Amino acid sequence: IDREIPMRTKNRLNSKETKYYKPEFQNCPHCDSKLVYCHTVSRKTISTMEGVYTVVNMGYRCSNEHCSNLDTVYRSAQAEQLSMKHITYGTDVLAYVGQLRFKEHKTRNEIMELLNEYGITVSDRHVQKLYERYAVLLRASSESYAKEELSKVVAQHGGIILSMDGVQPEKGNETLYVIREVLSGTIVAAKNVKSSATSELMEFIKPVLDYGFPILGFVSDGQQSIRLAFENLSPDTPYQYCQFHYLKDIAKPAVDKDRKLKVNVKKKLRGIRDIEKKASKASTLDEETALDYAAALRAVLLEDGKPPLDLPGIKVFDQTKKIQKSLEKCLDKKGDSFT
Ligand SMILES: [Zn+2]
Repeated sequence: IDREIPMRTKNRLNSKETKYYKPEFQNCPHCDSKLVYCHTVSRKTISTMEGVYTVVNMGYRCSNEHCSNLDTVYRSAQAEQLSMKHITYGTDVLAYVGQLRFKEHKTRNEIMELLNEYGITVSDRHVQKLYERYAVLLRASSESYAKEELSKVVAQHGGIILSMDGVQPEKGNETLYVIREVLSGTIVAAKNVKSSATSELMEFIKPVLDYGFPILGFVSDGQQSIRLAFENLSPDTPYQYCQFHYLKDIAKPAVDKDRKLKVNVKKKLRGIRDIEKKASKASTLDEETALDYAAALRAVLLEDGKPPLDLPGIKVFDQTKKIQKSLEKCLDKKGDSFT
């Protein structure tokens, strides 16, 4: 029920879903050892154009005790991109407000109404705050500020990780591109761009690379022009897609169907309890066998999998099928005596 009717009160957001994000880099940029989970970097409920959800950014660090950068905590660039620091609205909402205010010259009241149409509850004050944040975002491209922040990151982590993301507001003809430094969450540059062609994006990225800081890696979503822009400018720098998020989006219908499949399998197996009761004495070999099968089914039903790559429903379905086959074989051997 919660899933279908997001309830909202004035000051509290009720999240319909919690999304967990891991760093896009799986190995340490310094020594290539595997990164392992250490702690949650942030947990934040944000209001986006697609609804309210909770974003959990999970921090990972290098598993090699002798690594020169053992203290560095890696986090998901994609999770960071969803919202700005100190603001509970998504970057997509911010881009939309910027478009409405500065391109379409809408009033605060008009913006409030338009956001409400998307189910985004805002007050007068919120709209004002969103303007201000939007202006701050576009000012962040000041070179001296960026250089100062980035040199701190290099001193602490031995290099920077850059991510880039484009948000195109509803009916807008410009895309808001934001370049962030991932380890610190610093916004390095932001710009509204009319064309998302690789050459335009290269022009936007190049000044940041020209600062000359050592770059540990690039991260972006699946947009090809962004990947090409980074690769053309710096072909030797490791590049990572925000793969998990990307997959989760396109796999959503499959994940939903899979959930239903698991529920159906569970329903069909409701009879296990009766079998277990009947066979509970395990006085005969048949009863013992029945209990073994029941236990195997119970273990299978506990499978959670890791959607979207490892779907629990399909797993449960496959494994129960296998058990069914084995059971049928067993019954064939026994003929009619086992009923
Ligand atoms: Zn390392």
